[in-house]
Amino acid sequence: MTKVLIIGAGGVGNVVTQKCAQVREVFSQICLASRTKDKCDAIASSIAHPSLTTAQVDADQVKEMVALINDFQPDIVINVALPYQDLPIMDACLETGVNYLDTANYEPPDQAKFEYKWQWDYHERYKQAGIMAVLGCGFDPGVTGVFTAHALKHHFDEIHYLDIVDCNAGDHGHPFATNFNPEINIREITQKGKYYENSNWVEVDPFSVHRPINYPEIGERESYLLYHEELESLVKHIPTIKQARFWMTFSESYLTHLRVLQNVGLTSIEPIEYEGHQIVPLQFLKAVLPIPSSLGENYEGKTSIGCHIRGVKDGKPKTYYIYNNCNHAEAYQEVGGQAVAYTTGVPAMLGALLVVTGKWKGEGVFNVEQLDPDPFLEKLGTYGLPWHELINNSQEFTDS
Ligand code: NDP
Repeated sequence: MTKVLIIGAGGVGNVVTQKCAQVREVFSQICLASRTKDKCDAIASSIAHPSLTTAQVDADQVKEMVALINDFQPDIVINVALPYQDLPIMDACLETGVNYLDTANYEPPDQAKFEYKWQWDYHERYKQAGIMAVLGCGFDPGVTGVFTAHALKHHFDEIHYLDIVDCNAGDHGHPFATNFNPEINIREITQKGKYYENSNWVEVDPFSVHRPINYPEIGERESYLLYHEELESLVKHIPTIKQARFWMTFSESYLTHLRVLQNVGLTSIEPIEYEGHQIVPLQFLKAVLPIPSSLGENYEGKTSIGCHIRGVKDGKPKTYYIYNNCNHAEAYQEVGGQAVAYTTGVPAMLGALLVVTGKWKGEGVFNVEQLDPDPFLEKLGTYGLPWHELINNSQEFTDS
């Protein structure tokens, strides 16, 4: 019987809360807290759980977080607010001696840059406090790290090449919308692309490297090389990797909209003066775009995210592909959210479940690939994200 505190009442927060409520035998008490309490209440009103409460908190304020934790006394805090809140929430967990889990690494608000350094710096302090932080336990990062750890444990002696492929072949009917927080999403994809090769990071212009990739049950989609945060932790924890890349699909229409928004300055994070106020253009753009959690209703099609891995087993070259496909309409039917929120929220709930039940144990700060993939993959399908593997049966990445 454990207590879980969930921070953030957006699209992902909705799914995490719904999924925790489905596992009542583990999560006997749930508190959903966010900056706007009405949003927590709206989510809670759709969930039947005898001990689900809501609270208001500004998670940027360590003191407020500490007070909330002291009041609710959770066994774990699941942070699905924004990456800006990672450090204050980690500070509050440290001060109160409570385990921590999130789905995205820290970003300073005034700099479009993300890296694990700031959170890895907490390792010794978490270790000394005897608590555990699990970083990046959504889908990507998250399941992609678990997939890679599973490949290493069960299929390879050495992994040499890793290509993470992320396709959203869904249609939500809007001319332009992002599938999770627009500010965080647009900051991520407009950065320079970056991949890892022979111990070096290679930078490329945004969207300049692309290729068609075939996704199961979907077909071929143009996929663009992006930098994604799990590349940093995976090459650190699996040092035999020679090359690691991340690919994501975008439609021509999406890229055209994005280009126009960039060209007119609406994706900038530099504050500007507007009618006597300082506004950040990207935050204004966020305010006029569809809210990602509202996209679910008429969303059709699927996402497909997986890892193409090459390496050696018993002295022989081997190829391996592991993936999940998730259907937007089915996710909406189950939890009232689209597949991108669903594929993030389910792993966050499952990671928290493994921590509070002692199947994932550790003192310090961990990325998911450092933890045992078996209990996670044993249950991932049961909780809504079945996975599949192709062994020596994929021609997708044969070049280096
Ligand atoms: P949303 O913008 O829909 O929701 C974010 C929530 O956090 C909102 O309810 C917001 O409150 C709340 N919040 C923001 N600032 C604060 C604060 N200072 N204190 C308390 N609450 C705050 O985002 P999503 O649900 O789309 O995404 C949530 C997280 O999931 C993001 O960090 C995103 O990067 C991550 N993610 C991870 C993925 C993965 O696969 N690993 C994939 C997709 C997303 P308010 O409503 O008042 O603004």
